[in-house]
Amino acid sequence: MSAPIRLPEPQFIPVSTLVRTSVCPVRVYLERHDSIIEPAEYTIAKQVGYHLGSLAISDSPVAAGNETVPSVTSPKAPETLPDPHVERIWDEIRLVRPDIDDSMKEYLEGCIAACRTISWEEPMAADLACANRKYGISGRVDWIFNKNPVIGILRASRAPTYGVWKQDRIRAAAYLLAAEEMDVLNTGWTSSPPSEVRIVYIPSGIIRTVAPTASDRRSLLAALRKAEAMYRGETPLAPPDAPCDRCPKSESCTRGASEPQTLFDRFFRKN
Ligand code: SF4
Repeated sequence: MSAPIRLPEPQFIPVSTLVRTSVCPVRVYLERHDSIIEPAEYTIAKQVGYHLGSLAISDSPVAAGNETVPSVTSPKAPETLPDPHVERIWDEIRLVRPDIDDSMKEYLEGCIAACRTISWEEPMAADLACANRKYGISGRVDWIFNKNPVIGILRASRAPTYGVWKQDRIRAAAYLLAAEEMDVLNTGWTSSPPSEVRIVYIPSGIIRTVAPTASDRRSLLAALRKAEAMYRGETPLAPPDAPCDRCPKSESCTRGASEPQTLFDRFFRKN
């Protein structure tokens, strides 16, 4: 019998992998050889995140109509000037991701429009790596603020109607755990260890605060155990509520395949 396929042994398991494992460890396993390409939506949201403090002061880009006298004989609609924020951030995005499709500029415009009214506090630090050696978790905190909730993370998804998405509760629990050993939070300026996370949903221009519950931390530990088992070489099982109907791996996964797979598929097909 051949030895089980081992994933490369990580020193730390990234928070993002834990969150994905909490949804479906089988998908994490099937995607282990896939190259990781940052979604364009994330690239855009991340870059908008660097400008949140300045977007609110932008005036309407429709300036020409206020400054020019339209002709009486040939009335024209006011011209729309390019929004300087859109142009500037788009230039940055194209620098970061030269391969980005021009059609994504519309997505950027939507994010900027949504974030114009956001009530933003300037963070004391941004983009800080964090890792918890005891649990072997690592991540990158988007912002540290000087008052609670001190930890801020950015999401490139829309906000739910209320609260935060279930995955973001687990993400917040993971970041709180990973942040326990952050030097910046252990110099005595915080009155107590952080227990909440602020989540900035860029496409909605909404900030929500989440305090992970015991249930969220149990889900995090369960995901951690499953991820560790995968890295030891164990084959994961699909959870009963795996979202197979919207899974890009459904064709290669025995659980998600719409047609029963043949013996050849099951034993020889490369996932
Ligand atoms: S099809 Fe279902 S079980 Fe298979 S990887 Fe996707 S979500 Fe997981």
